[in-house]
Amino acid sequence: MADLVLQNLTIKYGAVTAVEDLNIHVASGEFLTLLGPSGCGKSTSLFSVAGLNHATSGTIRVGDRVLFDGNPNNTVPPEKRNIGLVFQSYALWPHKTVAENLAFPLTLRKIGRAERDERIKEALGLVEMLPYADRYPFELSGGQQQRVALARALVYRPPLLLLDEPLSNLDAKLRERARVWLRELQERLNVTTIYVTHDQAEALAVSDRIAVMSMGRMRQLGTPREIYERP
Ligand code: ADP
Ligand code: ADP
Repeated sequence: MADLVLQNLTIKYGAVTAVEDLNIHVASGEFLTLLGPSGCGKSTSLFSVAGLNHATSGTIRVGDRVLFDGNPNNTVPPEKRNIGLVFQSYALWPHKTVAENLAFPLTLRKIGRAERDERIKEALGLVEMLPYADRYPFELSGGQQQRVALARALVYRPPLLLLDEPLSNLDAKLRERARVWLRELQERLNVTTIYVTHDQAEALAVSDRIAVMSMGRMRQLGTPREIYERP
């Protein structure tokens, strides 16, 4: 497990400053939510931690690894960051079974068969999807696909998990249940998590702390109780 430090992080797309001077320290094992309206810079922040876009200035550190030191030409590529990612569209490979979806990234990393099978079992067990190992994505409900996507992110045993609106494609009822198991799972694994949502109720329900963003800047940072009591 690792902490995450964003220091003076600024991210520009040409003339547009999407994120400006962001400073956050996410403690090891903490569940921190970036909350704010569409376009406020949540995904841009998350993507730069994952290495999927180029930050402009500032620093990004995970544990004792510096992932970005302020030089846009000197960043650690995404596949070397050891970060678990789950996005809004869970994008399972449609022609691979659940187990194959989890196996593929491990095979790419040259993890041997025995360990691979053990990790797949463990990850599917955690999200209670082991009985579905040989099913195809189209045979699963949205909530089940969501869990498989989460298992696929966890199969690396990443010290850091980034979740970008992972529940937004689920119906309201399922979303509420998913909040509960997501949080239970995160606590059990003690994985440092950044969660992105525009849904205040969701943020209040799942977070240890919430960073409220608007127009590229962080406006408030506190526990759900602190945020709720001074809206
Ligand atoms: P959020 O995740 O909070 O909805 P984003 O991080 O996606 O917000 O967007 C922040 C700002 O950056 C917005 O003004 C958006 O239009 C802009 N933006 C995001 N991605 C790109 C991109 N690839 N090219 C140019 N501008 C972008
Ligand atoms: P193939 O085995 O035919 O080369 P892939 O397994 O690479 O195909 O991809 C099959 C489908 O999965 C494609 O529709 C592709 O867009 C999608 N896909 C590819 N890479 C990813 C990924 N990292 N995450 C989710 N979906 C992906």
